Amino acid sequence: MLKQCGMHSPLHHRLKSMRNPSASLLYIIFMMLFSLAAYGQELPSQQTIPQKAQRLLQAYPDQHLKYHDNRIIFEDGTSIVFDDGKTKDFASLLDDSDIEDMFSMQYISEGTPGYLQDAGRSRCEPFFKKMYGRDAKTVSKNLVVVSWFGEKIKFSRINGAADHLKAVADEIAREHPELISYMKSAGTFYWRKVRGANRQSSHSYGIAIDIAVKQSNYWRWDHSKAGETDPIEYKNRIPMEIVDIFEKHGFIWGGRWYHYDTMHFEYRPEFFEQPRGN
Ligand SMILES: [Zn+2]
Repeated sequence: MLKQCGMHSPLHHRLKSMRNPSASLLYIIFMMLFSLAAYGQELPSQQTIPQKAQRLLQAYPDQHLKYHDNRIIFEDGTSIVFDDGKTKDFASLLDDSDIEDMFSMQYISEGTPGYLQDAGRSRCEPFFKKMYGRDAKTVSKNLVVVSWFGEKIKFSRINGAADHLKAVADEIAREHPELISYMKSAGTFYWRKVRGANRQSSHSYGIAIDIAVKQSNYWRWDHSKAGETDPIEYKNRIPMEIVDIFEKHGFIWGGRWYHYDTMHFEYRPEFFEQPRGN
């Protein structure tokens, strides 16, 4: 791909032209150290993959992703920068997220989310568009029908997202039939921006589902005047048994966000340690 190997320096020519022996010796030592350092960097086997990149590679095995030189490389050879090196405030973490920023907050599967804990709301748009489709038409081509408690809903087949959603439906029907009244879908695929923002909603990629609108809470509904960093009071009425099953199959829940959106579930396997579902 890249890489220019070896350091074929014209060392001997240079030495001949040097008159001062101690300067020559220093030059040799310097060149040896420099060559060693350069050699070490060029060995792919010695490259350490950042833990966050490793998690991404493991979470999306179907993509056959690779990491090299601060880039995530796709199967077709195209690549996206991993860490842009910018220091970001809360707003930029959402609006200008690189792949590394997606992991800036930890997804915690218990308790009430802490102030500005919004793990998963940061999405590197080029990364998701590359996997699921760059526009509505391309995403649509990858949507398949999932049977959802008497409804037929569409979800992306990419990364097995639709299969994982099907597994959620099967498990809730089997283990918690008393909760089926919560499962009415309020929408899956919809190419749109996040409400009140200029970034693409995860519904655009066919990897998110909203359920139980009547029993749901959304921070913008409850705190219509609040800005992104204002303190807000948390609310939820979605039974945790439902959340547990979604999370087991690789879905994050909008109710784990400080900016809660309790109807919202989204396939994001990179937030879970173990391979999810079957
Ligand atoms: Zn949603």
